[in-house]
Amino acid sequence: MAGRRGIGGLSGGERDKLVQSLRAGRKSAQETRAAAPKRPQAAAAFDFSTLPEIKQLRMQRAAADMIGVENPFFRPHDATAGARTEIDGRSFDNFASYNYLGLSGHPEVIAAANAATETYGTSVSASRVVAGERPIHRELEAALARLHGVEDAMTYVSGHAANVSTIGHLLGPDDLILTDVLIHNSIAEGARLAGAKRLNFPHGDLDALERLLASNRHMHGHVLIAVEGLYSMDGDFPDLKRLIALKNRYDAWLLVDEAHSLGVLGATGRGIAEEYGVDPASVEIWMGTLSKTLASCGGYIAGSSALCEYLKATAPGFVYSVGMAPPLAAAALASTIILEREPERVARLKANGHHFLQAAADAGLDTGPSAGYSVVPVIVGDSVQAAMLANALLQDDLNVLPIIFPAVAEKAARLRFFITSEHTGEQIERAVARTAERLAQIRAGGSGLKALLDKAR
Ligand code: PMP
Repeated sequence: MAGRRGIGGLSGGERDKLVQSLRAGRKSAQETRAAAPKRPQAAAAFDFSTLPEIKQLRMQRAAADMIGVENPFFRPHDATAGARTEIDGRSFDNFASYNYLGLSGHPEVIAAANAATETYGTSVSASRVVAGERPIHRELEAALARLHGVEDAMTYVSGHAANVSTIGHLLGPDDLILTDVLIHNSIAEGARLAGAKRLNFPHGDLDALERLLASNRHMHGHVLIAVEGLYSMDGDFPDLKRLIALKNRYDAWLLVDEAHSLGVLGATGRGIAEEYGVDPASVEIWMGTLSKTLASCGGYIAGSSALCEYLKATAPGFVYSVGMAPPLAAAALASTIILEREPERVARLKANGHHFLQAAADAGLDTGPSAGYSVVPVIVGDSVQAAMLANALLQDDLNVLPIIFPAVAEKAARLRFFITSEHTGEQIERAVARTAERLAQIRAGGSGLKALLDKAR
């Protein structure tokens, strides 16, 4: 790895260059593109490495190298990632994978995936509309509809694609999409594809949502409110009862993305509707992914038969994309069966999440608004320090990933702990204790992005 001299070891010129590049890193890709000449030089036109966006990315990497922060991303795991994992020949306590109920790697799930592969092969080799339909697709959709307590469900080959294609297809330029500011990228991309007007409300602020509805509703045809059942960054969840009342009052559709709440919220893991005891049919669009609790890969929409029928006949991400691979459909189906049979897994996950949250509070860590379920952030407030902290914890055999700018605001840079039903109390306590110690050491060292920019002023 390049230069590990630390900030103090930089020459004046190097430090200026570094600070400039970090400041450049605060520009969005659009801003960088807008600042660049419209038509590149002829010789550069075919060389991607001359694109300003790519130069900016490389500068950021070089800056991290200069201050000795190893890249914490793209580390390959060599085992099933659950409460433990293996990276580069070493074993770690793992808090970086959303294998919430320990079903990825479960023998029944593996057996179901293998059996489906034996019967149908690894690919269905066509869109379901044409030659790609297999019985297991409808069995899975029936199980998903049953879990959510609604009429039907339809699956896509990715969770991200499920949001993009559904929202991009259902909404159009005359419509309005209202999103929590922390909403997942797939919903934001769906809104862009729809060409609808999109307005954000501050995280969890339903008063602000109501003001937006009151002042904008009359100017649009359809209105969609999109929230997460449990927020993937902050680990809290919205007031579903009030959301339903608002969408009814303002004649809007409600989409709830249950990626991180299925298998997590509610006594038997059926998600936020069960948590609040509301009728699932009072939400128009339930969305979820198969990649978390359900130990597979893919996404789905659950709701009325009419909605699912329409999306299956017309949504581009479904019609023009291959049907879900047999082993993946089978793995998700087997996972729904275990989820229904073993609610004690959901209870263990909840106990573990609450344990982590309490231990973190006792250790003086800032866990933001997390409710202590599947996602608990530890807010560091500085991207460089968050990356340093994650790297330091690897030395303690703990694997947890930083979430840094621009994925979150710089002051909200954090480590994000994914909690599972399979973690032990001892693993949780050790992780919290080591995080608190290492963070205190890093802060005492005065390094990090804020310190660097302050010194340069
Ligand atoms: N929605 C949310 C809230 C997510 O966190 C994610 C990804 N983690 C997705 C949708 C996309 O799902 P997938 O990764 O299964 O494509």
